[in-house]
Amino acid sequence: MKILIMTDMEGCAGILTHDDWVRPTGRYYAQGQRLLTEETNAAIRGLMDGGATEILVVDGHGAGGIDPELLDERAQLLRGAPSPAWPWGLDKSFHGVGFVGQHAKAGTPNSHITHTQWFDHIDMAVNGVSIGEYGQLALCAMELGVPTILACGEEALAREAAALTPGVVTVAVKRGLLPDGLDALDADAYRNAKLSAIHLAPTRVRRLIAEGAKTAARRLAADPHSFRYPQLSPPYTRAVRLRKMGDTPAYAARDTHPDSLIALANMPYTRIL
Ligand SMILES: [Zn+2]
Repeated sequence: MKILIMTDMEGCAGILTHDDWVRPTGRYYAQGQRLLTEETNAAIRGLMDGGATEILVVDGHGAGGIDPELLDERAQLLRGAPSPAWPWGLDKSFHGVGFVGQHAKAGTPNSHITHTQWFDHIDMAVNGVSIGEYGQLALCAMELGVPTILACGEEALAREAAALTPGVVTVAVKRGLLPDGLDALDADAYRNAKLSAIHLAPTRVRRLIAEGAKTAARRLAADPHSFRYPQLSPPYTRAVRLRKMGDTPAYAARDTHPDSLIALANMPYTRIL
């Protein structure tokens, strides 16, 4: 049983702010990498205990989030975007997809360090279904016939994942405390607007992730159809709204692909206003 784990940093327990914890210039970046890598190792351990035999970890955080020296030796690591980027090393040979360290999509209330792609996005939707980074890969996986089985990250992400891919095993590691409705902020202001959260202790989080991952892998082996896909049918239209960023004013983009969500994910934005 072969599993791909997509990782990100902002959704880990103990990652307190964006600028100090997830950027290479941040003073706690090395600790942030360790927090993510240990959460990832917990997922690897749980998945393998549940029957997984092969695991590819994708370092999906823009600046890099995995410390390769700390990674469980049973996994392999993909770092550096393929071309085209989507679906990030996933193909039909995989049996499931999991997420570690994932944050909720832009605009989500009670989310921490909330964003989609960069802090310039207000929203992204495909055929009217609002999605974030979780949804983007989950939709690509759906097209390949691979279910999303595990979603570890902040509590708002757990809700987002359960709504989009019913049946997914979720593990919530922290809870954001601030509302949203901040569409008028520019990207820099939004980056620093959602920095309050209550975190579980990292050691407890690792135990919870290992348990969730084991449950997910066992259920995947026993009953793969218990993991469900988003309800979308072609043609696929992606609508994006962006906020002001630096000298670039706010704008919207819209793109359509007749039959492929993966091809749509790789299309550049076509500005409409
Ligand atoms: Zn992210």
